Amino acid sequence: MIIIMHSHVTDEEIHGVETKLKSQGFEANVSRGIERTIIGAIGDERKLHKETLQALPGVEQVIRVVKPYKIVGRESHEADTVIDIKGTKLGGKTIQVIGGPCSVETQEQMDLAAQHVANAGCRLMRGGAFKPRTSPYAFQGKGVEGLKMFRQAADKYNLPIVTELMDVRQLEAFLEYGVEVIQIGARNMQNFDLLKEVGKIHTPVILKRGLCATLSEWLMSAEYIAAGGNHNIILCERGVRSFENAYRNMLDITAIPVLKKETHLPVIVDPSHAGGKAWLVPALSKAAIAAGADGLLVEMHPVPCEAWCDADQALAPDELKDLMGELRGIAQAVGRDL
Ligand code: PEP
Ligand code: MN
Repeated sequence: MIIIMHSHVTDEEIHGVETKLKSQGFEANVSRGIERTIIGAIGDERKLHKETLQALPGVEQVIRVVKPYKIVGRESHEADTVIDIKGTKLGGKTIQVIGGPCSVETQEQMDLAAQHVANAGCRLMRGGAFKPRTSPYAFQGKGVEGLKMFRQAADKYNLPIVTELMDVRQLEAFLEYGVEVIQIGARNMQNFDLLKEVGKIHTPVILKRGLCATLSEWLMSAEYIAAGGNHNIILCERGVRSFENAYRNMLDITAIPVLKKETHLPVIVDPSHAGGKAWLVPALSKAAIAAGADGLLVEMHPVPCEAWCDADQALAPDELKDLMGELRGIAQAVGRDL
């Protein structure tokens, strides 16, 4: 950590900072320049609170030199993390498209959805049994019964399942039904107690970006999971709130290369919740793959206009199949396959 002192700093103030650093177990390296005095704090700066130094007399600015995220940062682990989901690899050369409905509705809907997901060439399936809805009067999901329907439908096609966990009390059922990937939704990105719980198990976790979370906040949430021992984390960009209201959320394509630089974790994109309209999904999906995403999370419903949730953004089965074909070309152009 580097501490920059005010231009008219006194010896007493410099001494005050040195004393504080020493009391915290740090070495202080004082460098007196013509204009400014700079103090370097030597030690594990993650254990040092920036605020306690910032508040000392004579201190102008405190700058961190190492990233606050220890485990998920590229600095600590250079190679890309590849997550093995029942033999399907996410984060490697092959791009994975996770397809399926917004929510689990009926056994028939899930059976048809699984058939179409497999037929389109996707190797993983999505579907929410517990739904985070803005209104308490809207359909809240089928709950445990939904997990059962999902399991039965997906097993017929050997598709690992991806489904959202909203509350730790649901975790037992998730483990009982062998959910292969747990999704932590945008609204729970900073539910730290929930993050700690999924950190204690080894099931892969898709951590969606919060509605207005910075990349640093998002990576710190991933760090919560990793700190508990679960390193199987996939980040999912799903658009952020912005001033624009012509579409649902603003897809942050820039986040993809930035995350790739900052972290070794796989990065996927959800074009459905970003655009909010089915017609926008192909363009956003192509942009995501071209920018370096490792996969996509796409909503598809056997009959979109009958979907109980997010009907506007669901692709029809044929549209998902066509999209997979188009994405194959983009993947090849960027040295990947699908
Ligand atoms: C979802 O994927 O079903 C979902 C609710 O997404 P988000 O948390 O990104 O809104
Ligand atoms: Mn949805």
